[in-house]
Amino acid sequence: MNENIENLYRQVIMDHYKNPRNKGLVGYPHVHIKNPSCGDDITIEALIENGVVKNIRQNGSGCSICCSSASVMSEVLKGKTVEKAQELIGKYYDLLKGQTIENADELDEALVYQGVSKFPARIKCATISWKAMEKLINGEHDE
Ligand code: ZN
Repeated sequence: MNENIENLYRQVIMDHYKNPRNKGLVGYPHVHIKNPSCGDDITIEALIENGVVKNIRQNGSGCSICCSSASVMSEVLKGKTVEKAQELIGKYYDLLKGQTIENADELDEALVYQGVSKFPARIKCATISWKAMEKLINGEHDE
């Protein structure tokens, strides 16, 4: 990957880290996940109605990869149908495995995490909020 793209990706990550979108919980069904190896601690809430992800809220603390990816995930998946969200989640996991994916631009700003595939220890940081969202979409949530 060339240096300019890496710089751009870093800027997007730092922007979401410093100015997180959809931050703060409002009481929708939620899933809480921790990543002890890094101290990441994230709660994702989702309002899913009539097969559509109507709203996503996120809160937590952790490293820049973890916190920024929760913000990016909330923007990318909000407003999508459940089927589309599931498809995009699968694509995101493939991206982080270093696989080539079709219609990659559908992932929008989540594409900036493709470089994480080179750092296996950080993949959990980049996927924790997406795993929480995947559970919510599948109808699972914490009490
Ligand atoms: Zn982390």
